[in-house]
Amino acid sequence: MTYLLYGGNIWNNDGSVIPNGAVVIDGDEITRVGSAGDVEPNNYDNTIDCSKGLVIPGLVNAHTHIYSTLSRGLILPGDPPENFLEVLTGLWWKLDRNLTEESIKVSALVSGMELLKNGVTTVFDHHSSPGATPGSLKTISEELVGEIGLRGSLCYEVSDRNGEEEKNMGIRENLDWLSYVSNRNDGMVGGQFGLHASFTLSSDTLEEIASYVEDLNVGIHVHLAEGLEDQQDSLSKYGTRVVNRLDSFGLIGPESMLIHGIHLSEPEKNILAERGPTLVYNPRSNMNNAVGVTDLPGMFRRGIDVGLGNDGMGLDMMAEFQAGYFLQKIYHGDPNPLDLTRFGQALFRHNYDLAERTFGAKVGKIAPGYKADIAVLNYQSPTPVSPDNIYGHFLYGFSGNNHPAETVFVDGQPILQDSEVVGINEEEVYERARDLTRTLWERVKKA
Ligand SMILES: [Zn+2]
Repeated sequence: MTYLLYGGNIWNNDGSVIPNGAVVIDGDEITRVGSAGDVEPNNYDNTIDCSKGLVIPGLVNAHTHIYSTLSRGLILPGDPPENFLEVLTGLWWKLDRNLTEESIKVSALVSGMELLKNGVTTVFDHHSSPGATPGSLKTISEELVGEIGLRGSLCYEVSDRNGEEEKNMGIRENLDWLSYVSNRNDGMVGGQFGLHASFTLSSDTLEEIASYVEDLNVGIHVHLAEGLEDQQDSLSKYGTRVVNRLDSFGLIGPESMLIHGIHLSEPEKNILAERGPTLVYNPRSNMNNAVGVTDLPGMFRRGIDVGLGNDGMGLDMMAEFQAGYFLQKIYHGDPNPLDLTRFGQALFRHNYDLAERTFGAKVGKIAPGYKADIAVLNYQSPTPVSPDNIYGHFLYGFSGNNHPAETVFVDGQPILQDSEVVGINEEEVYERARDLTRTLWERVKKA
């Protein structure tokens, strides 16, 4: 099957913009990119008018918790949290414990739909459902990858916070999933070894995980120094800081995904620079939890790869991009704290690099030979779009444009058309989600 995407501005993530462009998809790959004037529309099986759009490589969300979709609007009884630990114990650890297979399914469907409508084609999820652990990653994948058609890299957050038996189930779930991923080998699923955070993991557990990570040659996906509690715990129990602690088990390397990295010392940042992990910035979650701000200038200075996730705060990566840049401005008291192009690479280069390595698929460019993972965003600009100002359009042009994607292809398949998810009854999914959430919330409120 061949497709021609015709008209509109093409941004192919190599510093150029093609006005009134054309992209040809054949099978799962992009085979031709050029000007609309140079192609004959009748030569293709399907032609899609993109003349009001901005055509970009599909976006990547480098860290989220899909189940958090079911927390939207939840009001808990009792006193509001006073610190980050109380946010975890009072909300998230009650919500994840009460998830059922059915609620995991519906959260994956809703997330998949909303990711697509925001132009996201690949997502890295960090899952926890201690009351329904076995098979939970497969359940997410059946909906997210199987039903919706996104690329999904999944992991289960191992923790000692719920005792030995549940920790072992978490480890088993990661191992089962990673085995499934390596057998499937089609570039649509990926995996890391999921860990909650240093402060809920014993040394014995870290040692055990380190042996699996080495044997399987996979990276870890872990929350790092998100709240001060993580450092305080590590210093008081082990006499060392979190990066040094994880590094002492050999857990930090080029394949590691380290999430947040807010409360890090200068020597810890130097260790990251030596080991080469991806650090994932989640600015809206950090603001919401009042945990602090990641030192992006310090990371950039050291050449550390910074990706962008949203930690479950909605699924709109353009809004995250904007909030992330504005947060650095206000934090540093400087209207230009970071080079915008450099910041743009968090979303548009390091996220793509992470996806390429994880899925073993060429993604992140609109260029021949790349996988056809493409988002056509509805974007009529009152000003010219050019190579030198494209990041300004991403920063100022999209936030508030809820669900900007018109058409999305993943692996050459059109899975969003006319802003509707192909093959999915969206109203029915939302209704099912609301029904399930009512009973889920009752259980969470009593927990
Ligand atoms: Zn997270």
